[in-house]
Amino acid sequence: MKNEIITITSKYQDDRHRLMDILIDIHDLYGYVSEADIELLSERLGMSEVEINETITFYHFFSRTPRGQFNIFLNNSITACMRGHDLVKKALEEACGTTFGSVSQDGMFGLYSTSCIGMNDQGPSAIINDKVFTNLTTYRVMKLVADLKSGKSPDEAIYESTGDGNNSDPYVRAMVFNNIRKRMVILDKDHIKFEVVRSLLKGHSPEEIIDIVENSNLRGRGGAGFPTGLKWHFGRRVESEHRVIICNADEGEPGTFKDRVLLTEFPDLVFEGMVIAAYATGADIGLVYLRYEYRYLYKFLNHILDKMRKEGLLGKNIAGIKEFNFDIRIQLGAGAYVCGEESALIESLEGKRGEPRDKPPFPVEKGYLNYPTIVNNVETLATTVRIVKNGADWFKGFGTKDSLGTKLLSVSGDCKFPGIYEVEWGTSIREVIEMSGADDVQAVQVGGPSGVMISVKDIDDLGTTELMKWYKPSGMMVAQKTFDRKLSYSDLPTGGSIMIFNNKRDLLKEVVMNFMDFFIEESCGSCSTCRNLPFIMKQKLQKILDGHGVRKDIDDLLSWGKIIKISRCGLGQTSANPIVSSILNFRYLYEQHVKAMADFDNVFDLEKSVEAANSFVGRKANFHHA
Ligand code: SF4
Repeated sequence: MKNEIITITSKYQDDRHRLMDILIDIHDLYGYVSEADIELLSERLGMSEVEINETITFYHFFSRTPRGQFNIFLNNSITACMRGHDLVKKALEEACGTTFGSVSQDGMFGLYSTSCIGMNDQGPSAIINDKVFTNLTTYRVMKLVADLKSGKSPDEAIYESTGDGNNSDPYVRAMVFNNIRKRMVILDKDHIKFEVVRSLLKGHSPEEIIDIVENSNLRGRGGAGFPTGLKWHFGRRVESEHRVIICNADEGEPGTFKDRVLLTEFPDLVFEGMVIAAYATGADIGLVYLRYEYRYLYKFLNHILDKMRKEGLLGKNIAGIKEFNFDIRIQLGAGAYVCGEESALIESLEGKRGEPRDKPPFPVEKGYLNYPTIVNNVETLATTVRIVKNGADWFKGFGTKDSLGTKLLSVSGDCKFPGIYEVEWGTSIREVIEMSGADDVQAVQVGGPSGVMISVKDIDDLGTTELMKWYKPSGMMVAQKTFDRKLSYSDLPTGGSIMIFNNKRDLLKEVVMNFMDFFIEESCGSCSTCRNLPFIMKQKLQKILDGHGVRKDIDDLLSWGKIIKISRCGLGQTSANPIVSSILNFRYLYEQHVKAMADFDNVFDLEKSVEAANSFVGRKANFHHA
């Protein structure tokens, strides 16, 4: 065992910053990391055992205790729950002879729950030893487990042929479907691969490329919407021996899966975007942070990178441009939603817990290994290729005044045609509902759990005008027909997740509770607000649902939703959104549950709730009584 660990660390030059890779290799070999492994790693990498332990315990896909021969991670996001998750879970427990969170006595099966694995359009889905299994049913579970028991590998146990497009590529072989429903400019199949790098870069200086992207007003497609050209501009002007381009392929927002499709069908476009970004900013180091859930694409993506190297599109003097040296390495994550935040992602890339850094300094000044680092989303990078090819004015021909271009939407939930839709910014919710074949719609969740839940009923229908007003970012309150609200940075910004719920859904009990569980599970625990308030708010919501609530509870929830905004990163800052936005847009659902006459709360015990929250995250409560 000692020799095997030494072989693994040597493969990464005993570099502590490659701890993620080292741990992944150890898991591939033994399924977990033992005490003895940690001791040896500490010696080899010059890290304390505590540091190594901290990293291991942070990520869902790492373990300190032995797991099964087959480890089944079943996705528990809301759309999976709507499509039979509970039945599948029960069938897995029966077939595997163990319960979730444990390993069967014979050591064959480990069962675990995991949040969105990027398959919302084909759930319930699970990952079994890195292989994705979609559209699970109780029958399929029985067959699958029987196959595994009979000696088949997960690869052999795939119960259907492989999916469409590159999902059937020998380097992928996944039963995943792209479900591309609408294409415009980004998903245009007829583009010439690497045309910009091969023939256009030479004719432009790096500054000119930045100007094109800046003039296009492209904003980051991951959700935050920071101007891409400006980010490149800032990154370029910081003096440094090295600069870094990172492609953020850690799409973990429940309901989002468009980056998965881009990486499957347009990896060349994403990598070309990275090369263009490197040329423009003077970067020589390229990293793709690929979420562990997409590990089934790892070999395929590396194969594309190898081809690029052979064709002179990576390496030294790229495309014949003197001293343009740049290469790309893919780094796998290990399951942590917060790593989608750029500084947390950088921490993870350096082999640490994915905890967001305090800012400033921002990554463009001091990022990966303290080099100026530009982190761009998968879709953003793909879009830059189209912009440099066709020009800023061409790009400005799509979208609205404040939201230019097109946007990839991942649509799932109660609709006939879940999948990927490329639409212009400014598309209305009404159009999305129509395109996706949804009817009897009660609510649309825009931007995932951290976004907003909007009602699709018109204000007049509800007769609750006072309650159905929305705050625009300007602070102005607007009343508007909800059907006609538009996807745009000024009305409904989104990273692309759209989940539709029909009138049969219990929005509070099913949806909001599921979203709150997600935030509670994914908090990194650094900030007391993010560590405690989502848990306490969920308790309060449960109290309301149990019929013990009073009106003041609703007001408390709204005011705690404001306090949580002081959290360090976006995860904490938006973790109250499921409750707050459902109160703002569906207050009548809360009102139905609370006792009309009572105006005080004599049941809710804040101290007890804080203790429960602390015990959940493994910390001690510390009350000071006067
Ligand atoms: Fe961690 Fe939450 Fe604080 Fe972000 S807001 S740093 S996830 S505790």
